[in-house]
Amino acid sequence: MTFAATILTLYPEMFPGPLGHSIAGRAGDEGKWALETLQIRDFATDKHHTVDDTPAGGGAGMVMKADVLGAAVDEALRRQPDAPVLAMSPRGKPLTQARVRQLSDGPGVTILCGRFEGFDERIFETRPVEEVSIGDYILSGGEIGALALLDACIRLLPGVMGAASSGDEESFEQGLLEYPHYTRPKEWEGRTIPEVLRSGDHAKIAAWRKAQAEIITRSRRPDLWERYTGAPDQSPSGAQREKLKDE
Ligand code: SAH
Repeated sequence: MTFAATILTLYPEMFPGPLGHSIAGRAGDEGKWALETLQIRDFATDKHHTVDDTPAGGGAGMVMKADVLGAAVDEALRRQPDAPVLAMSPRGKPLTQARVRQLSDGPGVTILCGRFEGFDERIFETRPVEEVSIGDYILSGGEIGALALLDACIRLLPGVMGAASSGDEESFEQGLLEYPHYTRPKEWEGRTIPEVLRSGDHAKIAAWRKAQAEIITRSRRPDLWERYTGAPDQSPSGAQREKLKDE
């Protein structure tokens, strides 16, 4: 089945952009996913094709008009009634690997890309649109967020990644950040690949990797660590533990 993405944007020429290359590009050529853009401006009905207007109540910037957005979302829903409609928004629920996995298991996704100050609130009151954020910082538009979300979904589609297992150990998949990687040469600038990784003892290697993943997660992401262990970290400091690894 083809994972189908519909992107509502004022800049359709930004797509597929980076998704036309490498892993995603190849998967697209193989028909594993498909993308269609809808130009939001085409849904404006006045002769100037106006998509934005000044904010009610005053203030800086412009707001994307509800009537135009409504017509664009309706068209996307008509084309893909079963796909969830996401709006890129810093106010949205932060995107997680779990949500990405859920989306990639589905028929596809419709993504509404904001510009200017964002959307007239009434689009969220009248249409089944879920706000999604890709992080606590402000982009100038939703397109890069849409590309990030799609890239994350596409690599999880069946047959897209080389080794079927390579997805499962990735950061976040087990609730932990990933362990460190090394490759040849054995020694570089005076630093040697840890002995255990050269031991050929798979059980020992797995145990070392798990311990490293725990140390790194605990020191860098107390929020993930707390969720992983089910309890706040009471020990002196995760950062100290990470330091220990080098000693
Ligand atoms: N005034 C808004 C920001 C608008 S930025 C606010 O303060 O919340 C313009 C558009 O860029 C947004 O409508 C959204 O589509 C996109 N965007 C900006 N930052 C984003 C983020 N962190 N995640 C997802 N989309 C974002």
